[in-house]
Amino acid sequence: MNVLVLGAGQLARMMALAGAPLNLKVSAYDVRSGNLVHPVTLEVLGHGLENGIADADVITAEFEHIAPDILNICQASGKFYPGEEAILTGGDRRKEKTLLDKASVNNARYHTILNREDFDTAMNTIGIPMIIKSALDGYDGKGQWRLKSIDDAESVWLDIAAFLQASHQGDRQCVIAEEFVPFDREVSLIGARNANGEIEVYPLTENIHTDGILSVSVAACENKALQAQAEAMFKAVADALNYVGVLAIEFFDVNGNLMVNEIAPRVHNSGHWTQQGAEVCQFENHLRAVCNLPLGSANRIRPTAMINIIGEVTVPEDVIRLAHVHWYDKAPRPGRKIGHINVCADSPTELADKLEQIATLLADDEFPAVKQAASSLI
Ligand code: AMP
Repeated sequence: MNVLVLGAGQLARMMALAGAPLNLKVSAYDVRSGNLVHPVTLEVLGHGLENGIADADVITAEFEHIAPDILNICQASGKFYPGEEAILTGGDRRKEKTLLDKASVNNARYHTILNREDFDTAMNTIGIPMIIKSALDGYDGKGQWRLKSIDDAESVWLDIAAFLQASHQGDRQCVIAEEFVPFDREVSLIGARNANGEIEVYPLTENIHTDGILSVSVAACENKALQAQAEAMFKAVADALNYVGVLAIEFFDVNGNLMVNEIAPRVHNSGHWTQQGAEVCQFENHLRAVCNLPLGSANRIRPTAMINIIGEVTVPEDVIRLAHVHWYDKAPRPGRKIGHINVCADSPTELADKLEQIATLLADDEFPAVKQAASSLI
């Protein structure tokens, strides 16, 4: 079967690697150049979306910030999963919030802001502190403002007004003000749903972010009550979208109660641990779902942690003795994800030990959360 992925980054690459044993041939459409490329070698295989669609049995996506006309063409082909509506929803916080409300899923109180009057209403109804996020083009904490004091209201508003005016998205762009959630930690749930509505979900993963970017994800301990809450919300959201493929949901854990932060209609960075830590990884399960093959077990087979490799950093070879290193074959740049490290163990304590050992091999400022992840396990 031929699968075309919109986007030619590391997620398409890892889908191609996971699909090979099932004879699933994955190619990628680079939305910037219009080239059709091999997602691992980046060899150019052709050009133009129409050609890619003609050769594909199935189309999917590795990111949600895709121009509506591209999504529209893919949808019209009848081969696109999870489909136009799911991708548009994941890429637009306004649509996302509407979906969460429709699915009756707990999420932070919010107010949509198009102008100064809305901004004032948001301050009065949501209250300060509040977090303001762009509806479109926001990822890894980009396109966000934090209003911590009424004294900053004028300058924050001027920033937002300039942002809205400069946006090329026209009427589709706006910002969403959210209440500040005093969460204890951030967790995420990755799961797959197929066209029959069958679902396989992985255990919850605890995520540590640094400056809005994921540093470390840990899948080591079970919390049955939290898992049940997360799975119920996953089902509500996935069913509301009639979703086919892997879907990720990020949550805030507030005193044992989960609140959805955001959804990602695709395989997700916080699910990379599944490559070594689960029976069937998220990349294979996404392909199985969109290709209408039986879903694989999402059981965790051993405690596993994932450490992101971000920016211009080096990883000593000794790390390979202790862990699985996945490079993306990308040129290093500040803030750019260029690989990750999966660390596995037989118990949470052993995982903490291994993370401690790995932390001694890595620079603290380049891998800021590894020690924190180790201590959270003890
Ligand atoms: P996001 O791009 O929405 O995932 O936001 C990036 C990070 O900002 C999240 O991982 C949280 O650490 C933090 N954050 C986002 N929304 C809120 C909120 N409503 N309250 C508190 N922290 C938040």
